[in-house]
This record gives sequence, C-alpha cells and structure tokens, in this order.
Amino acid sequence: MTIAELLQSATAANQLSDSPGLDCELLLCFVLGVDPSYLKTWPERSVSDAKQLEFEALLQRRVVGEPIAYLIGSQGFWSLDLEVSPATLIPRPETELLVEIALDLTLPEQAKMLDLGTGTGAIALALATERSHWEIFAVDLQQQAVDLAERNRQRYQLENVSVFASDWFAAIAVQQFDLIVSNPPYIEANDPHLSQGDVRFEPASALVSGDDGLNDLRLVCSQSVDYLADGGWLLLEHGFDQGKAVRELLERAGFALVETRADLNGCERITFGCYHL
Ligand code: GLN
Repeated sequence: MTIAELLQSATAANQLSDSPGLDCELLLCFVLGVDPSYLKTWPERSVSDAKQLEFEALLQRRVVGEPIAYLIGSQGFWSLDLEVSPATLIPRPETELLVEIALDLTLPEQAKMLDLGTGTGAIALALATERSHWEIFAVDLQQQAVDLAERNRQRYQLENVSVFASDWFAAIAVQQFDLIVSNPPYIEANDPHLSQGDVRFEPASALVSGDDGLNDLRLVCSQSVDYLADGGWLLLEHGFDQGKAVRELLERAGFALVETRADLNGCERITFGCYHL
C-alpha cells in the first residue's frame, strides 16, 4: 500500500479517537522515522509490509485508547521533546502555564529551585533551558521516573539540573530554595474521569491523592515553608475545582500574595504564593 492508502484505511478504522487522522499520521511518522511533511510530500510512496504491520499493531493499541505519547514514546513540552513512559504522567500543555508564571517571578539571578514529583522532568528541564544560572533540583518518588527525567536531562545536556529520588521532601536536606514548584497528583480517588481517556493508562500514583485529591497538595503546602528562603515562592498545579482550597492551604501555611491563574480552557489551574520568614 502507499502512504495515502494506508492513512485512508487506518483513519477509517480508528473511530474511537477524537482526532483519528492526526493520530494515524503521528503513528505512521513514528514507524517510518519521518516528519509529517514527508507524508504530504510523498503520498504515493509505498510502505513495506514490515512497516505496515508495525503501524497496524500501534493502531490496534490506539483504538483501545492507549495515549499516542506512550505509543511513540515522546511528548512535546515547552521547547523540548521529552521521552515518556507508563511509569509517569504524560506532560500536559496546562503545565506550561506553571513554567510561564515561574519565569515571570522576580527571583535572584542564581535562584535555587526544587521541582517535587518531576515525572518526565518537564517543569524542571523547561525552566533549566530558560534559566541557565539557576540551580535546579528535581525529585520523584518513583525510581523509574527519576531515571526517565535523568535521560531527558542528559538529552538536552542541562548541567544545572540534579535529579534524584525523594518522597516529597524526605530525602532533601533542610535548605532554602527561592522557588519550589510541583504538579502533584490531585485527582479524587473516586473521580469517574479516571476511567476515561489517556488517564486510564497513566499510573494512579501520579494522578490520585486521597478522597478529596488534596492529600499531596496539603503536604507540599505545609512542608514547603521549612525549605523556602525569605521571599521564596511556591507554585502548584491543581484540579479545575481546587483553586479555592489551595489558596486556603497556602494562606493557612503563612503565604502572602496568594493568587490563582486560569489555563487556556479558563480553568483555575495554578496557584502560587510568596513566603516571608
Ligand atoms: N491534569 C491531569 C488530568 O486531569 C492530572 C494531573 C495530575 O494529577 N497532576 O488529566
């Protein structure tokens, strides 16, 4: 079959996705090791039987809902193309808002920053590319996530980032960070959306946080104050309906200038505050 024929028949087969045409193009690009423009330029080129089989196997997995990022092993975030794995969350575009807010803060030239629950390393590595003078620490409970984030770090040779295993602050010596950021698990244990879409394939450890989804946000808010410099900032991602609760957590922990920003869907998504000793 030619590229055009294969895409046409595969798109027709992939009825469960919202974007069957795009999914098929991404999977075929991955299998052929080419850019999307190649498919448009050479629609009449024939695809070998082996490549067709490889493509069809991925398509079968996509049809039952497996996220594209896991099938092709990578996801774009900020200016980076990050390796992903089922050991941790796939970076989301909403999280780029957290990166933008961090870049807008007034911080020392050589700020010391901590990313709690780094997963692929997305937030820490995006900030590292923008702020080469920052000293950045990124931790995750899961060793597989630590290894993944470290591979992503090495890929972009970001020497200002150190990645290691820690259960939140457990393995971090008391010290003063200028900025602490986290996209922790924040979904309620019985949220019906856990049985829909991409999240079905992502680890619960990266998604779920107790009955109200706030267990980890509570812990991070209360413990951060021991690890912040005077005037240091804490930035947190949270669920669309958790803005008020997270503002209250920060205020109760003693943070000032507490503010929430909405993502591109208009959902409250990032709450942050400043801590004075
Ligand atoms: N934003 C993700 C979702 O709702 C959840 C991310 C998280 O728990 N940190 O799909």
